[in-house]
Amino acid sequence: MHALASDLFPICRSITGDGVRTTLGEIAERIPLEVHEVPSGTPVLDWTVPDEWNISDAYVATADGKRVIDFNASNLHVVGYSEPVRATMALAELRSHLHTFGENPAWIPYRTSYYARTWGFCLSERELAELGEGPFEVVIDSTLAPGSLTYGECFLPGEREEEVLVTTHVCHPSLANDNLSGIALVTELAAALADRERRLSYRFLFIPGTIGSITWLARNADVTTRIVGGFVVACVGDSGPLTYKRSRRGGALVDRAAEHVLGQAAGSRLLDFVPWGWDERQFNSPGFDLPMGCLTRSLEGEYEGYHSSGDDLHLIRPENMEDSLNAALAIVDVLEHDGRYVNLAPKGEPQLGKRGLYRGLGGPDPGTEQLALLWVLNQSDGRHSLLDIAERSQLPFGRIQMAAELLREGGLLAEAHEEPAE
Ligand code: ZN
Repeated sequence: MHALASDLFPICRSITGDGVRTTLGEIAERIPLEVHEVPSGTPVLDWTVPDEWNISDAYVATADGKRVIDFNASNLHVVGYSEPVRATMALAELRSHLHTFGENPAWIPYRTSYYARTWGFCLSERELAELGEGPFEVVIDSTLAPGSLTYGECFLPGEREEEVLVTTHVCHPSLANDNLSGIALVTELAAALADRERRLSYRFLFIPGTIGSITWLARNADVTTRIVGGFVVACVGDSGPLTYKRSRRGGALVDRAAEHVLGQAAGSRLLDFVPWGWDERQFNSPGFDLPMGCLTRSLEGEYEGYHSSGDDLHLIRPENMEDSLNAALAIVDVLEHDGRYVNLAPKGEPQLGKRGLYRGLGGPDPGTEQLALLWVLNQSDGRHSLLDIAERSQLPFGRIQMAAELLREGGLLAEAHEEPAE
């Protein structure tokens, strides 16, 4: 995951344009990805798909041609969606188009202006102090014209139509934690699930923030009715605590699954829904009210370097990304395998030994595995789900699920036929 983030780091992404296409092209080498192009001007819910932005070069140069701000050194140097400029001006005139990062004089801020046409450069306070008075040659070689909004979608069908939705934003340029950590995790999660047998269907979206989820929702009202749970992934590579933010509903199956998984992980955080953050705002808008939480570590704005050149590849660490991926996989495992069962020998405890069930308990902790069998037998009256049992027993869901499988193979447990309650 860190290697993928490193490969994608130099690309200049925005909410539209070739940077997103190149990024999706790299993802498509790893998972089956359908790339959608939605024309500029298309109405999407209360919004409109904007013009497409592309940039090939930008700089501020002194009279002798020395570039003192150079897009090629860092794509953060240009305000995203800057309109083209070619002019000569002194610092006094240029200054209102320059942005610095107050928290650290060495870092370049990340700025955009999607919906108000303007142009600008971002630089560190140190660079600003050394600029001089000019005159400067100021060039932004960009295009802002009708084109399309691009997003990627990976659909993995399962036995059932019910879907799990996992999304991440792909619209930030060279920022590692905010953007690339999510892209890398969702790619790896999709690759892992592509290799498995699946009861549920899975859909993964790689979308520009806000306008991308709004565009997808506008085009997929029919799909939204099949979503049984999911989460937005963002900022999952830093060393902040593993964090899950609940859906608007708060008690959806995915919320309970995440609460159970994070409850087993030391130092993790569970937060209630707030209409802030990333695309969970759109998925949890009242007209959709999808059971979509958010898996993250540090929240937006919560870590040093957020939305600046301080959010680089040193900030994200392979072990943090792996820890976040394992949590995502564990949450998905609960959604995939939760169900209600009926004990077929409910009067007294059935004799496990004569059915060979003790022999199945070879693991490192046979006592816990035996306890898991007894919990599943005791609670499986058709009303309690495996997640209910994991919660009540405080045993990991995986243990409870494994016990249920052994009991089914031993003829002591059958699936309850009613639909599980939310
Ligand atoms: Zn961001």
